Amino acid sequence: MLRIQNYINGQLMPPQSGHYLDNIEPATGQVYGEIPDSGASDVAAAVAAAEAALPAWRARSAEERGRLLVRIAALIDANIERLAHAESQDNGKPLSLARVMDIPRAASNFHFFGTAAEHFASEAHMQEGVALNYTVRHPIGVVGCISPWNLPLYLFTWKIAPALAVGCCVVAKPSEITPATAFLLGELCIEAGLPPGVLNIVHGTGPGCGQAIVEHPGIKAISFTGGTATGRHLARTAAPMFKKLSLELGGKNPNLVFADCELAAAVATSIRSSFANQGQICLCGSRIFIERPIYEDFKAEFLKQLETQKIGDPLDATTKQGALVSEAHLNKVLDYIKLAHEEGGVLLAGGQRATVPGRCADGYFLEPTVFENLPHDCRTNQEEIFGPVVTLTPFDTEAEAVAWANSTDYGLSATVWTANLNRAHRVAQSLHSGIVWVNTWLHRDLRTPFGGMKNSGVGREGGLEALRFFTEAQNVCVKF
Ligand code: NAD
Repeated sequence: MLRIQNYINGQLMPPQSGHYLDNIEPATGQVYGEIPDSGASDVAAAVAAAEAALPAWRARSAEERGRLLVRIAALIDANIERLAHAESQDNGKPLSLARVMDIPRAASNFHFFGTAAEHFASEAHMQEGVALNYTVRHPIGVVGCISPWNLPLYLFTWKIAPALAVGCCVVAKPSEITPATAFLLGELCIEAGLPPGVLNIVHGTGPGCGQAIVEHPGIKAISFTGGTATGRHLARTAAPMFKKLSLELGGKNPNLVFADCELAAAVATSIRSSFANQGQICLCGSRIFIERPIYEDFKAEFLKQLETQKIGDPLDATTKQGALVSEAHLNKVLDYIKLAHEEGGVLLAGGQRATVPGRCADGYFLEPTVFENLPHDCRTNQEEIFGPVVTLTPFDTEAEAVAWANSTDYGLSATVWTANLNRAHRVAQSLHSGIVWVNTWLHRDLRTPFGGMKNSGVGREGGLEALRFFTEAQNVCVKF
């Protein structure tokens, strides 16, 4: 049994209450470890450690801080097999996916922000003959980073690395559903020689541990990724304390497939954007709008390629679809499948819980599911399902497709498939979403702003946006 510990003040330690929560392996449905059920006293200890470490950490040069982050990146790379295995076991995702996506990206996050710190500059504004204004970007202080279960180490490090790079100290909480790789990260930070207290990782539930981070007066900013309802609750707690907030929330992303697109590429990539990580990526496209002349061809090819999505043990190299993250989440997705039937949807594929024989017989597997014949404004097409469930809908005009794409409360990402350059730019700029991919999906350059419009979030992460978020800008005006 893996017994996870908190990482506070440079040491691995149990929760002060002595209580632990079960950690379940989604592919087997069995308890395989325990995680600390930390509370306000553990968070207080973490904040105290971070506050004590802050003066020395922020006083280091950007190069020194960056070197340590790059060392952590190298250790993640060196431990890729161990980390990928832990991520797969903890989350249910295929090991092959964790190996090529989650863990390499976690290393890239540390490398990118470790080196970015050295290139981060601030502005000067000259008032000719009168005064010179320059901007100082102070690290904001001790910050909280709270992340979800779908891309555990990937998103955890995406927040922590820029905060550390600019000289903040961090109290971080991974999802209680997928704590394993965050625990291993603590071990790697010790090995890398990160000074005690600079990063603290506290494990526990949202209400018990996350809430204590958000409420603690010593935490000056919160970077949060998770559900929209949780983000709303967080904002209610943090806003009266005037904490800086970055909220990366849910999505209900559209794919717009125009008749002039390269069909083979559109279908192959749409299979990935629908079902990668069992559809549990905030950027997955779950509403596929297809221009009517190619609707039947797209549908036939999509359903044919769906057959390659082999469901199986996440540790098996041939598995394309692993387990959903938990029994509760599986039931939530099954409820949405029931709703889609009730709303008049025609089931084209999937729709049932899947059984994988052997050690995974009790795992939380679900067939990749495709519906058609659902209006754009029904609940199935408006609410975030966050599982391997997509709808196909024909459209007749560009204006109709854009209106339907924009009709939800969300605005995280969208994908446009077309060979017409003018249309690509026109449609991209009329979509209400933080990212628009044209003829691609999940193509991520770490320098670009990342975040959502509408209920998909507030603020942007990535590149300079992330570095700026964790700093407080100060204007110094010197009169000549
Ligand atoms: P969640 O909101 O349930 O939990 C996210 C994190 O918040 C967890 O660590 C949880 O313990 C913590 N939390 C819960 N209640 C809290 C509270 N009161 N105070 C402080 N922390 C609290 O989300 P989830 O189910 O883990 O993740 C799925 C959601 O995340 C989906 O909606 C998905 O779209 C979204 N997501 C968004 C992005 C993005 O970049 N926009 C990326 C990945 C996932």
